[in-house]
Amino acid sequence: MGVTENAAIGAAIKSGKKQPRVIVVGSGLSGIVMGMRLMKAGFTDLTIFEKAENVGGTWFYNAYPGLRCDVPSHYYQYSFEPSTSWSHRFCGGPEIRQYFEDMARKYQVFERIQFNTEVVNAEYGDGKWEVELGNGEKQSCDFLIAACGILVRPKYPDLKGLDSFAGEVVHSARWDHDLDLQGKRVAVIGNGSTGIQMIDPLTKICSKVVSFQRTPQWIVPIPNKKYSAFGHKLQNAFPFISKFYYYTFRFVMEQLMGRGIIKDGWSRRTMGKLCQWNLNSVKDEKLRQDLTPDYVAMCKRLVMSSEFYPAIQKPNAELVREGIDHVEAGGIVTKDGKLHELDVIALATGFHANEYMLPMTMTGENGLTLDEAWKNGPRGYRTVAMPGFPNFFMVMGPHSPVGNFSLSSIAETQSQYILNFIKMWSDGKFNTVRPKEEATEKFNQDMKANMKDTVWLTGCQSWYLDDQGIPGSWPWTATKFRNDLKDARFEEYTAT
Ligand code: NAP
Repeated sequence: MGVTENAAIGAAIKSGKKQPRVIVVGSGLSGIVMGMRLMKAGFTDLTIFEKAENVGGTWFYNAYPGLRCDVPSHYYQYSFEPSTSWSHRFCGGPEIRQYFEDMARKYQVFERIQFNTEVVNAEYGDGKWEVELGNGEKQSCDFLIAACGILVRPKYPDLKGLDSFAGEVVHSARWDHDLDLQGKRVAVIGNGSTGIQMIDPLTKICSKVVSFQRTPQWIVPIPNKKYSAFGHKLQNAFPFISKFYYYTFRFVMEQLMGRGIIKDGWSRRTMGKLCQWNLNSVKDEKLRQDLTPDYVAMCKRLVMSSEFYPAIQKPNAELVREGIDHVEAGGIVTKDGKLHELDVIALATGFHANEYMLPMTMTGENGLTLDEAWKNGPRGYRTVAMPGFPNFFMVMGPHSPVGNFSLSSIAETQSQYILNFIKMWSDGKFNTVRPKEEATEKFNQDMKANMKDTVWLTGCQSWYLDDQGIPGSWPWTATKFRNDLKDARFEEYTAT
């Protein structure tokens, strides 16, 4: 990746400017880009607390067979740090995690990360945040930034008898690296993006793979091109090619998929037709029917795979639509009384979505707790801040456009916005700042009003919807997101 020592780090901030102490929680792609921005600006009094033993967040915890990002890697990288060495159009998990680690090292963020350390509580008082770590230690800072991710805490299904299973049970987001699957009979429960990704690689090594499907998914094909040695040479000789890929993929994803998500029209219909065309490749009529969803494509997060349909038609693969009754020592018993004999059960049952920094507890000004602030569900000011929580910001906070775009691109926009506030603080423009309640309320009302046209509300269950059935994502275009966060809109904040 051509990492030059110190090359990316900004000059120390000029005298007369204040150096803030900044604490970031989480070193996934959001925390890393926040750290990179701070370091580049010369704000080096930074600590990132990370509960895992390495960087990457999602890309550290999820290590199941077939793990891949279904956003093209050139669009999943940071736009200002194009890589010329992506192996495929859609790279595997380890390669993506390595990119983020390389970035953390290049900007000297890596050495500012304290691993195996969970932040359990944060309290605000006298212009400072005091964070409490899992080991009881306390540290204070001028700015606290949560970059804790969205799909973090694995959801385990409440299946009768799961504990009595004699084989191995493993969740996709807590994969056991030592698990030997060669020649085993493996069940995959769940067929979201994760469950679907697993099937093809498992069919290559297991004697039997059984996909337990509760609700069929629409699947759009994404042929995964391998970049040739010549292609890499070209990219190295002309680095703008990588940037060109970035903006091309961004255009396609934002204009084709992004638009279809927020509004009905040609793009939604096109995606639906593409999915139907893909489904038609399944030859067996009964299997095709079993795989046919009864809701609009993209209502659930669209699954992207060119491998799943061929894989599920292999002789050692089976799709089970019958509901699960219970699990016993020998396997899974479905409601029709049939025992599916198994050695391993892989749970691809998703996450407790949209919990953000929870279960960490927080107390802002005037004793306002996070539980009180979020009693009606997570809400914030333009995805990045919260009234009552001064000098606190979030990367990938509530209603970030997670369903529509590349998360790296979102984190880039948000981290730049947050950095602008820290620069203002450093320049002495304020001591503390928090968004106004009215501005936050207006943002949330506008957002809810715009949800009605989104595909998420066309009649399906998905992790996008909260307990009240309100989607937790962004109901506008990517361009509006970037424009909304271009300026600080300081008038919508109260500063001291
Ligand atoms: P998910 O989309 O929430 O899917 C969970 C699956 O488990 C669903 O099929 C669900 O069925 C099923 N399920 C849950 N509880 C169950 C139970 N008790 N019994 C039977 N089935 C049960 O989770 P995911 O597949 O891990 O994906 C989550 C998100 O992560 C994706 O939407 C995507 O945003 C992201 N992701 C991205 C990539 C990528 O390549 N970028 C890869 C993987 C994941 P129902 O549909 O009936 O609820």
